[in-house]
Amino acid sequence: MSQYPRIKRKKTREIWLGPVGIGGANPIRVQSMTNTDTRDVKSTLNQIERLRSAGCEIVRVAVPDERAVSALKDIVRESPLPIVADLHFDTSLGVKAVEAGVSGIRINPGTFKNKKRLDELVMVCKERQVCIRIGINAGSLESEILKRYKTPTPKAMVESALKWINYIVEKFDYYNLKVSLKSSNWWHTVKAYEEFSRISDFPLHIGVTEAGGLITGTVKNTMAVSYLLLKGIGDTVRISLTADPVEEVYVAYEILKNLGLRSLYPDIIACPTCGRCEIDLMGLYKKVEEWARGIRANLKLAVMGCVVNGPGEAREADLGIAGGKGVGLIFKEGKIVKKVREEELLSAFFEEVERFLKEHPERMNQ
Ligand code: SF4
Repeated sequence: MSQYPRIKRKKTREIWLGPVGIGGANPIRVQSMTNTDTRDVKSTLNQIERLRSAGCEIVRVAVPDERAVSALKDIVRESPLPIVADLHFDTSLGVKAVEAGVSGIRINPGTFKNKKRLDELVMVCKERQVCIRIGINAGSLESEILKRYKTPTPKAMVESALKWINYIVEKFDYYNLKVSLKSSNWWHTVKAYEEFSRISDFPLHIGVTEAGGLITGTVKNTMAVSYLLLKGIGDTVRISLTADPVEEVYVAYEILKNLGLRSLYPDIIACPTCGRCEIDLMGLYKKVEEWARGIRANLKLAVMGCVVNGPGEAREADLGIAGGKGVGLIFKEGKIVKKVREEELLSAFFEEVERFLKEHPERMNQ
């Protein structure tokens, strides 16, 4: 039996966000958003670099005012990732963001009062082939639709998204568009995406909005994103968390990896520890995890608390460590290959992993 569920991805229209292909046969893209002050170019670029090295492929930055939009030019020029400008209410900032060279903009057209200005914005996007995300959010659904539905139901959100997609397609013959339909309620979120996906083939950016901190937000996002991905829905993913945005990228890859959709860094199996553990396993685990995130390989590593059960329980791992009293074992494919002192355990383990990867170059990702 395959270790992953069989997923048939819905074939969506292929679009481009700068050099990054989205939808069609492209892999599911991982994106995040900076939480630095966009006007502070240096801090924003530092965060973008941290996101890139974690595997992020698209980054969104907030553009709240004129100073932020003037900083964008420098950010776009230096950024290793394509930039999406996040805009609310003010279309003139959008035009300036496009002129600053962003690859995408995220708008919720229903919140724009002046439709003429919206047209101007779409036109400059079309001229420069800038991708537009129609970002429908349950919390800021346009008033006309909200009046009819009373509450921001999934159907109301879909109606709003379809209205703006059709408007841009029909009036401007422009198709470099994607859609998000986010709610802080994960079930409403999936229902909205399911409904939209049934009707339209525009690519979908999925995730739950205002999901919460590292634990609560990860749980809500994992429920919604996994549910949708299992149904083949979703072309880009953002796990929004009230946390360091780099964590969003790690969580997104963990979900994609566990669904067998995308693997970037090694999978780590670790035991929860019990009374048999005589080593600082949590400390070891943290160090292995940190190190493994710097490796782009399809690999299973194990961090186990005792030599009695560890190697057996983690038989499916390519390589692992098991702790003893002052010593540790390194095992490869279930067999013990080395016994080392506790203080040398990590460096010896990392050496073994590197040797294994030299012998198995096919395991390297990218
Ligand atoms: S591997 Fe050992 S320490 Fe870890 S849970 Fe199993 S028995 Fe306990």
